[in-house]
Amino acid sequence: MARVCVYCASSNDIDPRYLTLARDMGIALAAAGHSVVTGGGRVGMMGEVARAARSGGARTVGVIPQHLVPLELADADADDLVVTATMRERKRVMEDGSDVFVALPGGIGTLEELFEMWTSASLGMHDKPVIVLDDGGFYAPLWAFLEDLRDRSFVRQEALDTLHRAATVADVLALLPR
Ligand code: AMP
Repeated sequence: MARVCVYCASSNDIDPRYLTLARDMGIALAAAGHSVVTGGGRVGMMGEVARAARSGGARTVGVIPQHLVPLELADADADDLVVTATMRERKRVMEDGSDVFVALPGGIGTLEELFEMWTSASLGMHDKPVIVLDDGGFYAPLWAFLEDLRDRSFVRQEALDTLHRAATVADVLALLPR
């Protein structure tokens, strides 16, 4: 059983398919016996993952900075809701309290968190898996950009190899530590 940190969109105004994807992820994590760490908001895909995971019996941990409590509607139903003083502290608590990081579709907050965990893994600062759920090719433009950077020697192939790319929720599950 792993503590799975899920990064994903906080927006509610996205195509409903992504809210469904977040629900599917939460349900699958719970069914496999994993616990779930999120940004601690009830909004967007983040809220869906946590609610679905709990409905399947998973333990959920939400980590939210004080100033986002009203904006992202702190998830009072989380088994453990950690309210931090700063965004930096939020990220540290999420990092220390998770065994693996999974990025679902999201916006700049998701990308920022994904890149931080990926770059630190590629530099050997931790050995926790970092996985991108590339649902329907959501991350294909990013991948094309990264491969171009690799071709022009801005990015090492070894760094690209550090990031796991999963096409489906089932593929993510297969990559998780037992
Ligand atoms: P987004 O992908 O932009 O919808 O954001 C997803 C989550 O990332 C939200 O909970 C944001 O609070 C969080 N987030 C936004 N900016 C940052 C940041 N600089 N560092 C860490 N998390 C962030």
